[in-house]
Amino acid sequence: MRILLVEDDESVARSLRRGLVRFGFQVEWVATGHAALAADSTYDLVLLDLGLPDTDGLDVCRALHGRGDGVPIIVISARSDETDRVVGLELGADDYVSKPFGVREVVARIRAVMRRVRPVTPPEAAGPDRYGSRLTVDRKAARVHLDGAEVALTPKEYDLLAFLTEEPGALMSREQIMEAVWDANWFGPTKTLDVHVAALRRKLAGAIAVEAVRGVGFRLVVVEGGAGTEGRAGAPS
Ligand code: CA
Repeated sequence: MRILLVEDDESVARSLRRGLVRFGFQVEWVATGHAALAADSTYDLVLLDLGLPDTDGLDVCRALHGRGDGVPIIVISARSDETDRVVGLELGADDYVSKPFGVREVVARIRAVMRRVRPVTPPEAAGPDRYGSRLTVDRKAARVHLDGAEVALTPKEYDLLAFLTEEPGALMSREQIMEAVWDANWFGPTKTLDVHVAALRRKLAGAIAVEAVRGVGFRLVVVEGGAGTEGRAGAPS
């Protein structure tokens, strides 16, 4: 997934880009509003700082939204003013993050916005998503098949697999997974997550690997090479 980062503060931009790349995103960084408007629009989402040197970020927001190409915009700003937040959202921003923020918070917002603006299964591409040659996930029916045979998953095991397969290869933190799969405001122990990961590894052995990244979280990897590992069916090119 490609992100256009519009941020004039170099240190903020560099650390944010580094963090987003670590989570599997491609990041194109520009430092001015004019460069943002001149950038080719093949990105999937815009992260837009409001305090830019050449133009007001809100004007950039309005102009980007006015293109009508549906590319979502998340405003990032040091201005904690509620007015900015409201105006930003009125001008077409999809979400708003206040500085200072953590990379994980930004990643969580990006994923939430993408889920909202781009439903997982577009109607014209209905059908199971394929991961490698062995595994399919039918998100409409909430059914999983391995080598053509349905795999019996508990509802939470299915939810976990559905979440991790949204972006194969991306590192998901424990907190993100707990928030997405269990509860929006999870602050408790995450042992149940390990239990469910172990179940997925057992039931889907050989088709996917769920790699643990110590101290951070998990990353789903499609085991086989070859056709079909680039992404799920219906994913935009
Ligand atoms: Ca700025």
